[in-house]
Amino acid sequence: MDVRTFTGGGFGQNAYLTVCGRSVAAIDPGAAAPRMADAIRTEGLDLAAIVLTHAHVDHIEGVHEIHALAPDAPIWIHPDALPMYRALPHQAAAFGLHVAAQPEPTHRLSHGQRLEIGDCTLEVRDAPGHAPGHVILVAPDASFAIVGDVVFQGSIGRTDLPGGDFHRLMKSIREEVLTLPDTTVLYSGHGPPTTVGDERVGNPFLVPHYGGELA
Ligand SMILES: [Zn+2]
Ligand SMILES: [Zn+2]
Repeated sequence: MDVRTFTGGGFGQNAYLTVCGRSVAAIDPGAAAPRMADAIRTEGLDLAAIVLTHAHVDHIEGVHEIHALAPDAPIWIHPDALPMYRALPHQAAAFGLHVAAQPEPTHRLSHGQRLEIGDCTLEVRDAPGHAPGHVILVAPDASFAIVGDVVFQGSIGRTDLPGGDFHRLMKSIREEVLTLPDTTVLYSGHGPPTTVGDERVGNPFLVPHYGGELA
């Protein structure tokens, strides 16, 4: 399974397309969704699903662009993220943005579930703390994980937004991210990809030497 990145908007948000043969899943379609939609359309790819790691405005503002390509494709979200998803116009207003409500999600994510994307699967893991109902998506061979705003190269997700919880986030990182092999590539919601091994030894929030909580 390949991963393609589409970055855009004032938040520099990364939307991802996981590609399995001609089947693709659109993960967190944000400001760059029009470019992602162009790629799906012009390359004749088959949209199997839209999957949302969490419901912050920058990760969901382009759902309608992708949904319009294939209105029958399921939209997956964790139930705990639904209230924030449905409150998108209010959430955006808090950032001084005007964003219309997005198409209603059709399917609910749960821990341990396996999403079928063509002949490939993505495993769902609950990882709240940055936002309610945040999940990460792990490739079956653990070659990569799409981690949303749980962890970044050299940083972690902010926990000062509504529903944020620092200790819950650290537990999610410890139990769901650092349990993956060091070679697992982490695709974050912002910034460049990194690996579990690099963050385990170099992330100042995770390394006790720098005042972090866990190793
Ligand atoms: Zn976020
Ligand atoms: Zn984000």
